Amino acid sequence: QEARKYTGMVEDCCCDYETVDFVNEEILHPILQQLVTTPFFRYFKVKLWCDCPFWPDDGMCRLRDCSVCECSENEFPELFKLPIKGLPSDDFKCQEGKAEATVDRTLDSKAFRGWMEVDNPWTNDDETDNAEMTYVNLLLNPERYTGYTGPSATRIWDAIYDENCPNYSLGEICPESRVLYKLISGLHSSISVHIASDYLLDEAKNLWGNNLKLLYDRVLRHPERVKNLYFTFLFVLRAVTKAADYLEQAEYNTGTPVEDMKMQSLVRQLVYNPKLQATCPLPFDEAKLWQGRSGPELKQQIQKQFKNISAIMDCVGCEKCRLWGKLQVLGMGTALKILFSVNDNNDAKPHLQLQRIEVIALGNLLNRLSESVKFVHEMGVMAEKAETEE
Ligand code: FAD
Repeated sequence: QEARKYTGMVEDCCCDYETVDFVNEEILHPILQQLVTTPFFRYFKVKLWCDCPFWPDDGMCRLRDCSVCECSENEFPELFKLPIKGLPSDDFKCQEGKAEATVDRTLDSKAFRGWMEVDNPWTNDDETDNAEMTYVNLLLNPERYTGYTGPSATRIWDAIYDENCPNYSLGEICPESRVLYKLISGLHSSISVHIASDYLLDEAKNLWGNNLKLLYDRVLRHPERVKNLYFTFLFVLRAVTKAADYLEQAEYNTGTPVEDMKMQSLVRQLVYNPKLQATCPLPFDEAKLWQGRSGPELKQQIQKQFKNISAIMDCVGCEKCRLWGKLQVLGMGTALKILFSVNDNNDAKPHLQLQRIEVIALGNLLNRLSESVKFVHEMGVMAEKAETEE
């Protein structure tokens, strides 16, 4: 009953629900599903240690399904493994399953050719913190049910919402920060959808599948959470299409030319898609959004809030949740950076400088949102069908 199809325009966006579902299922989802399996997009460089600046009592989650499987050495593209001159190569191996695995510092100078490493005001983590970072194969670590729940998880979500809405936990709504709230809520919906769509149904049999009750309880029975999911999807999609030229021309060398060429073709299909341009040319109009407010001031404020949200991710007490939390918050920060970039100068084309991990995070975030939108839509179609058959 709670699943339904949504109609009309997505709030604050320029496309309607039917178009979004069409565009997603016919165009974006198939491209994104391939894109995230390519070597460039599947390795994510991340600082995974629990280094919580807020609640030192909150230890690491020790539940079985929370632990992240790090990359085995032979999985890396060759270019990632070249040793730095003068340093013993043994120090730079990524050791599978070992929390203290040493980071391969050669990666940046070789496989990251053409990519800048700069301080990033949108995130608490910087790619330059090499000593603390490790590589994770995202395909081996799907975002799914982990068993992370209870006061630790609730405390994180409350802190995230409080960051952009100071009295959120007291039930207050804050219109000033509406966009940021909607983005966080949309991301929260997406995480819940992934938990529901890949849930441990029977621990003894290690049986995984859909948990529709959880999906209804956490997302579908709250229409505003579904709407925020669509909003967030269009917001991130707009950022990707706005950065089209940059993304198309970026350096994607992972030392696997055939795969790299395939990937570049997928990026082109994504950012210059004629069908997408014909049906939903402007998924979201950022010019309208920032209208009437002081651009630089708003940018600074949102940047600060986002950096704090990024710091809160270090307190997520479950390693796998932290991985996806960090990736998606970074992806969101990247989308904001792109959409604010037009304010930096008055050119029609934004002046952009993205880091490699920002592009990876952005692509993976869009894919996650696309999966969630597809799943929610399919549930709506199923519910409608069941209703007409009754
Ligand atoms: P929660 O999802 O914890 O929600 C807390 C409160 O927030 C709700 O009571 C409600 O008032 C409000 N709320 C819920 N959804 C929304 C929304 N969309 N918009 C606005 N408000 C909302 N668990 C996993 O199993 N796998 C994961 O990969 C995973 N990743 C996580 C990543 C992060 C960053 C965090 C903080 C948690 C993650 N978790 C993950 C835990 C998961 O999100 C839930 O916190 C947990 O399952 C407990 O759920 P809950 O029913 O208590 O409600």
